[in-house]
Amino acid sequence: MTLVQIIAILGTIPLFSLRTFLPAFLTALLLAYPQYFPGMGDVPPLGEDAFITRNWVLITLGILSLLEIIGDKSTTIRNLMKNAETYLKPLFFLIINLNLLDEASNEVLKDIQWAAFDPGYLLLAFGALSVHWLSRLRRDFISFLEDIDEDDNLFIGKISSWVEDSLVVFGFVLLIWTGFLMLILYFAGILFFVILRRRYETKIEQQKLTCESCGEKNLPYAVKCFNCKNSLSRVHSIGVFGQKKEELVTNREKHQIALISQRKCPDCGNTLKSHRLYQDCSVCGASLFKSPGINEFVRSQDR
Ligand SMILES: [Zn+2]
Ligand SMILES: [Zn+2]
Repeated sequence: MTLVQIIAILGTIPLFSLRTFLPAFLTALLLAYPQYFPGMGDVPPLGEDAFITRNWVLITLGILSLLEIIGDKSTTIRNLMKNAETYLKPLFFLIINLNLLDEASNEVLKDIQWAAFDPGYLLLAFGALSVHWLSRLRRDFISFLEDIDEDDNLFIGKISSWVEDSLVVFGFVLLIWTGFLMLILYFAGILFFVILRRRYETKIEQQKLTCESCGEKNLPYAVKCFNCKNSLSRVHSIGVFGQKKEELVTNREKHQIALISQRKCPDCGNTLKSHRLYQDCSVCGASLFKSPGINEFVRSQDR
């Protein structure tokens, strides 16, 4: 195993955790036509018999990458793919990198007649697990972004999708020269997101108000206690970004409708897990559209 291969395995971890097909396509393209990539003229092209450099594989990966870029801009398609992706990505990471490694293994086998164990496979297993773990982290982070920006009104989803596309493309070009730098940058990015999320959660936690009846902590814009269903005396208004406002609610029904339109429970204010119209809140068990009813909600949206 050469240093280039180690960097390729480690460096493609972040790329594959962002996208499934685009990094696979770029890697296959590089292996098939290294002469078109800056500074890569000396890399010998993979042999004729290599699977990933065949024309039909390249074309298929190219088309899939394009569909992936377009599909990721739609919230519906992204939600559909969200869970499958965390397994697809490590799979493609393995397929592409196994091809790289096989070339090396063959050489090792030629040199030493009894190649007992190739540390490359250990690195590959580590890589695939990392891709899986990072894709899950990314999935959670995207869900978190969607919670802030429910209907993609702020285009946060679309912007982050384009940022990711360009990260994969530029990251790949960067990777060719500096694999490790890419890795450090990526982990710095993750650290930033984790801190941002923690701060958001701590802030929410600090804003919670204590129920006079049972002592449990409720969201500042909750109408009823999630635990004992007691009507709370202080109910703060909710802002368009789902943030607590200082002013207190006077019209509770209007406030509950505002909670529903932000996909929050009209009673306890927690984010509803499902996208279905009729559902029960997973925290307090309140049924959606029992009170206020669906007619009041529709009427308020028409106004
Ligand atoms: Zn209570
Ligand atoms: Zn609830």
